[in-house]
Amino acid sequence: MNDKDQMIRITLADGMVRGLLLTATNTVAAAAAIHNTTPVATAAFGRTLMGTAMLGTMLKQDDASVTVTIAGGGPIGKIVCVADSKSVRGYVDVPNIQIPLRNDGKLNVGYAVGNEGRMSVVKDYGMKSPYIGQVELVSGEIAEDFASYYVQSEQTPTLQSLGVLTNGDAVLSAGGVLLQPMPDCPDSIIEQLEFRSPMFADISRELCYEPMLDLMNRWLDGLKPVVLETNPISYSCNCSRSRMEKALITLGKEELTHMIEDEQEGAELTCHFCKKQEKFTQHDLIRLLNKAQEK
Ligand SMILES: [Zn+2]
Repeated sequence: MNDKDQMIRITLADGMVRGLLLTATNTVAAAAAIHNTTPVATAAFGRTLMGTAMLGTMLKQDDASVTVTIAGGGPIGKIVCVADSKSVRGYVDVPNIQIPLRNDGKLNVGYAVGNEGRMSVVKDYGMKSPYIGQVELVSGEIAEDFASYYVQSEQTPTLQSLGVLTNGDAVLSAGGVLLQPMPDCPDSIIEQLEFRSPMFADISRELCYEPMLDLMNRWLDGLKPVVLETNPISYSCNCSRSRMEKALITLGKEELTHMIEDEQEGAELTCHFCKKQEKFTQHDLIRLLNKAQEK
């Protein structure tokens, strides 16, 4: 590990298939450290972060962002992740969840997330009204749920694998694969992809032994994999004091007045995504109240 995280855009079979390969060990380790997640929460959260980062890469607009919310009704609660083309961030409702391993010794992500709810995807392109898509969860195992989203909401058949390997609190590796045949892709190539998909089911373990590009050449041998572009990806938050001020102002006059009266010492806000704390004094809050009143 410790190589830089990368989002690698590829094509196969002379452009008949487009794909993304993601290495995200540092990104998921950063998320786990910030949110102090237990292993099963790290796996669920990490997979969602990676799936969201892949959606972010496909937005094709630098200032656009995508928000994925997975609410499966399981004990982990909601998982919320936001990505743009370069970075990803998120949070989980219950980061310290403890759940017994499955019978096969693997983390029980599906149980933690639940499969009784929905995954929603909101793509925000700035000026234009956002695109909103929603699908029922298939299994709560995340990769299958993202694949089902692409099929149902974007009419794009998709093979996706997302994996996080942990040892206790340490994230050993994390990565993902996404492959999407184009509409005119011959059936013979789609069959090849389906035939090979079990190979990348255990991507996080394989990444411990082989770099992503070597894995690509082995898995996709004969399908002419070509790397189009490689970009760094990281866990990072774009919060700032001025964004928090805006959020406080949107609380409205009444709420701010309550805060000023109740919290004699001012207020401390914590960012959901990066846990950064900002203090707002009584004086700051009064200034924001004045701004709220101007509206
Ligand atoms: Zn933040």
